[in-house]
Amino acid sequence: MAQLYFYYSAMNAGKSTSLLQSAHNYTEQGMQVLLFTAAVDERVEKGVIASRIGLRSDASVFEPDSDLFAQINAHLIGHKLHCVFVDEAQFLSREQVDQLAKVVDRLNIPVLCYGIRSDFQGELFPGSQRLLNIADKLTELKAVCHCGRKATMIVRRDGDGNAVSAGEQVVIGGNDSYESMCRNHFFLAVGTYPSA
Ligand SMILES: [Zn+2]
Repeated sequence: MAQLYFYYSAMNAGKSTSLLQSAHNYTEQGMQVLLFTAAVDERVEKGVIASRIGLRSDASVFEPDSDLFAQINAHLIGHKLHCVFVDEAQFLSREQVDQLAKVVDRLNIPVLCYGIRSDFQGELFPGSQRLLNIADKLTELKAVCHCGRKATMIVRRDGDGNAVSAGEQVVIGGNDSYESMCRNHFFLAVGTYPSA
């Protein structure tokens, strides 16, 4: 039986690299894959999955209102399909994660989702929350903090380099930058450890 997979991490853990390598392993065996990425993510260009080590591939984009079950089911007319890959899965809505579960359960096609677990305030992204709740297989991909510990958190810095502790979950454009950190350095950076 096919399964729903969620590979999660902080930033810079090599999610896109892992996705593209895995997709390559399928196509190398003559199998057909479908790649999705979020329309909101235009760091590279719309409809491209690019890894920091230079791998890249075209991908379909999902918009906030895309019906992924309908889209994938329509693709099956005239195409074989052995596996679906979704990058930036944190931007999926709860409904879209359920649509992907339906692809697994009704169409018997495995779906591999890759995404960031939590935002700069340490809160789960909606897509990640739903995937953590209903995926069959959960795998953590490890990013590294500047101290050498595993990085599980993300710090957002404004244009002046100050850690941001409040605001919108997703900011498109602007001068903010992001850094993956261990929990200890995350709390030290945003200054929200309770005082003793
Ligand atoms: Zn650290």
